[in-house]
Amino acid sequence: MNPFDLTGKLAVVTGAKRGIGRAMARALAHAGADIIGVSATLERHGSAVEKDVFAAGRSFESIRADFADPGAVRALAQDLAGRERPVDILVNNAGIIRRAPAAEHSDADWDLVIQVNLSAQFVLARAVGGAMVTRGQGKIIFTASLLSFQGGINVPGYTAAKSGIAGLTSALANEWAPRSVNVNAIAPGYIATDNTQALREDSVRGASILERIPAGRWGDPEDIGGATVFLASEAARYVHGTVLPVDGGWLGR
Ligand code: NAP
Repeated sequence: MNPFDLTGKLAVVTGAKRGIGRAMARALAHAGADIIGVSATLERHGSAVEKDVFAAGRSFESIRADFADPGAVRALAQDLAGRERPVDILVNNAGIIRRAPAAEHSDADWDLVIQVNLSAQFVLARAVGGAMVTRGQGKIIFTASLLSFQGGINVPGYTAAKSGIAGLTSALANEWAPRSVNVNAIAPGYIATDNTQALREDSVRGASILERIPAGRWGDPEDIGGATVFLASEAARYVHGTVLPVDGGWLGR
């Protein structure tokens, strides 16, 4: 038996339209999972991620939900937790970043980043994870960050939210490990997506980041796929409450 096989499983991936989430959905589909993709602007039909999943021979459902709207998040949580076909894997990945020095960081940016990157993640995990606890099985994977461990530069709201994600991962794992629900997180390093475009376009910051990555290159969204499949699979059945860096060696330096 292949312990990484996800055939027959149903995975929800938030932030699935592009970047890391799209690569996570693709990797899970190639491991056998059917996918429900969620994002703020995901097309009803014909999205790039839908094509990826269909190419892997799996089913795809699109849900559009704006995590900046707490009511929309609650409705999504209720929908996902109440389905006849239960969700086996929840990948809580959607996220945004707002860059400004701490002294100029606006209330609006702080509130938005905390809502999208932390509060929405909790509301979804509470509902879908609660249903998993009732069934006695399930996998939850958060997308954390290097800034779950470090302070970052000009992103205090983002760092607070991602540090919160690390704490939430531990808190939920403590409660739900006895019920055979695995809660873990992946901390991507510097990955080339829209989220980091401003850094790559800043020649000074871009060069200093690249110089510090032991692997000698920025990460590609595909680099996150293997860890996602692992944490979603039976191979990770005794892994609870960890934040797994996939960072080209950044944190070890
Ligand atoms: P990205 O390319 O900008 O993609 C972000 C995804 O999140 C998009 O699909 C987007 O939806 C969705 N999203 C953003 N705001 C949303 C909202 N209000 N409601 C619902 N969905 C929303 O960024 P990424 O780099 O792949 O980031 C994915 C996750 O990885 C984030 O949690 C990010 O913090 C984390 N991360 C990224 C890096 C990196 O180096 N890139 C490093 C560490 C952690 P739409 O496409 O519909 O707008």
